[in-house]
Amino acid sequence: MLKKSNEEIVLKGIPAASGITMGQAFLLDQQDFIVSERAILPEEVAIEIARFEEAVDHTRVEIQNIKDKIASQVGMKDAQIFDAHLLVLEDCMLIDEVKKRIKSEQVSAEFVFSQVLQRYVSIFEKIQDEYIKERAADVSDVGRRVLKHLIGESRLHDFEALLGDIVIVAHDISPSDAVTMYNKRVQGFVTDVGGRTAHTAIIAKSLGVPAVLGLKDATFRISNQDFIIVDGRKGIVIINPSEETKHLYSKERERLAQFQETSLHMKDAPAETQDGRRITLQANFEIHDEMAGVKKYGAEGIGLYRTEFFYMNRLDLPSEEEQYQAYRKIAEAAAPNSVIIRTLDLGGDKFLSSIQLPREMMPFLGSRAIRLCLEEQEIFRTQLRAILRASAHGNIGMMYPMIAGPGELRAANAGLKDVKQGLREKGQSFNEKIPVGVMIEVPAAAMTADILAKEADFFSIGTNDMIQYTLAVDRTNEKMAQFYEPAHPAVLRLIRRTINAAHDANIKVSVCGEMASDPTLAIILMGLGIDSFSMSPASIPQIKRSIRALKFSDSEELAKQALRLSTGLEVEEFMVSAIKKLVPDFYSYDGQTR
Ligand code: PEP
Ligand code: MG
Repeated sequence: MLKKSNEEIVLKGIPAASGITMGQAFLLDQQDFIVSERAILPEEVAIEIARFEEAVDHTRVEIQNIKDKIASQVGMKDAQIFDAHLLVLEDCMLIDEVKKRIKSEQVSAEFVFSQVLQRYVSIFEKIQDEYIKERAADVSDVGRRVLKHLIGESRLHDFEALLGDIVIVAHDISPSDAVTMYNKRVQGFVTDVGGRTAHTAIIAKSLGVPAVLGLKDATFRISNQDFIIVDGRKGIVIINPSEETKHLYSKERERLAQFQETSLHMKDAPAETQDGRRITLQANFEIHDEMAGVKKYGAEGIGLYRTEFFYMNRLDLPSEEEQYQAYRKIAEAAAPNSVIIRTLDLGGDKFLSSIQLPREMMPFLGSRAIRLCLEEQEIFRTQLRAILRASAHGNIGMMYPMIAGPGELRAANAGLKDVKQGLREKGQSFNEKIPVGVMIEVPAAAMTADILAKEADFFSIGTNDMIQYTLAVDRTNEKMAQFYEPAHPAVLRLIRRTINAAHDANIKVSVCGEMASDPTLAIILMGLGIDSFSMSPASIPQIKRSIRALKFSDSEELAKQALRLSTGLEVEEFMVSAIKKLVPDFYSYDGQTR
C-alpha cells in the first residue's frame, strides 16, 4: 500500500530498545557515502593526492589478500569474483578524475572521491543490463573500502552537519555503524530487518537510543524528513502523527522519564527478595563512555564486558598496551566490584575492518568467538596478555564466549597458561588466580555443564545465543521473531541443567543475555537459583524492583510450575497471571504492556 501524504500510519516491528523518541526520519541508503566537504590549502593538494593514491594502494593490497585467502581456503573460482573489484581500482578515468578535481576544486580527497563514486554508481544502476548493474555493487563496495582508508569507517556517515533531531531509518544497521552514527542528534533507530537480541539492538540499548527493528518495509513506507514517533517499548513507529498522537506520546515520554527518575532512588538498595535472597545485579558494558551509566544505575560491577566493540570502527587492531590501559581503567573505575572481561566474540553479526574474514554461508555457525580466537592465536594471546596485566590492578575475571564443550575450554586455557608463563618470565605482575569462566550459550555446553563446571571458576549463561542455537532461530532475522521464544521449555530445561551443574560443583552462575532484563523471565531465572544477572545498566532499577517485590520461595514455586508446561506461550501466560496475583502492581511501574 502506498503512503498518502500527511496520513498518520502506524507500523509494527520488534521492540529492540526501550524508550520513546520523536524526530525527522533520515533515510540511510546503503549506497550513501555521506562525507562533508572540506576545503584544503593550495599547498595541501599534493598531500591530498598522495593520500588518495595511498588509499587506493592499501585497498588493492586488502582485496588481493582476501582473494588469496579465498583462493587457498575455498578455491580459485570463487576468488576470481574479486578480480572485478581489482579492476575498479585500475579504472584510469575514475582515478584521474578524482586527482584532477582535488587540484581544481581544492577540497579533500574523500569529498571528491565520494562525489565521483556516487556518480559512477548511479550511472551503472540506470543501465538496463543485469551484468552492468552488478558492477554498481562492485564499484560501491570498492569505493567504501577506499573511503575507509581515507577517513576511517567511523566517519563514513557525517551526521554532525544535519540540523535537528533525527531518527535513522535504514534497511539494516550493523552494530559497529550504530556506535559510529550515535551522536546527540540521532534519537532513534528504525530498520527493516533485525531481531530483539541482534547486536544492533543491544548497542541501541546501551546507547540509550530507542529502537524498533524488523519492520520489514520501513524504508519503503517512511520518506526522508517524515516526522516519526518511535516507541521502543511496544515496537511501534508512527509516521506523520496527528497533533493528538504527538501530545499523547509526549505525555507518555514524561511519565517514563519520571518512572526512571524514581527508580534511581533505589540505586543503593540491595536486590533482595522479601525473604532475604540476595541477587547480584551487574552491568553489561560495550562502549567506553558507559561507566557513568554503570554507576548511575547502581550496578555492582560489570558482568559482561563485550570487548569486540573496542576493536571495531578502527583500521588497526588495538595493541596489548592499549588494551591493558583500557581494561585497567575500567577495573579501577569499577573497584571494588568485579569486571568480567569476555574475550573477543567476533563473527556472527560482528565484524572488523582490520581483519578480513572470508564470507560464510552461516556466520553464526561458523568461525565465531572462541573458534576464531583459537585460529588467530596472535590476536587471542595479545588480548589475554592485556587482560592478565590489567588483573594486577583491579577485581578482574575473564570468560570465553561460545564454548561448545570441554575440548575448546582446554584449548583456550592452554593458551592462557602459556601467556601466564610468558608474563612470569618477563617479571610482569598479574593475578595468578584470575577467575576464568565459561559462557554457556551453546546447547552442547549446557549438556556438558557438569564436566565444564569442574574446569571453570564460574558460568555465565548467554541466553541470546542459547535461544538461537537451541531453537535453530537466527536471532537477527525478523521473519523468525515469532519462533524466538525465551520461555520455550527446551531453553528453560537447559538453563536449569546449567544452574544445577554449577551449584553441584560449587561455582556461581549468572545470566548475561537479554532474558535477564525481562521482569517476568527474570523471576523464573531467580526461581531456578541463578546467583547474579548482568544487563544494560538502564534495565537494572526495574529488575531490582521486581526482585524486591517477591519472595524467593514464591519464585521457586513459580519456576517449578513453569517448567511443567509445554510451550513458551503457556509459560509466559502462566507467569504473568501468577505474578499479578502475588503482586498486583508488578507490571504497572515500567509502562510495559502485559
Ligand atoms: C548472549 O549470547 O546471550 C550474550 C550475552 O552474548 P552476545 O549477546 O554478545 O552474543
Ligand atoms: Mg552470545
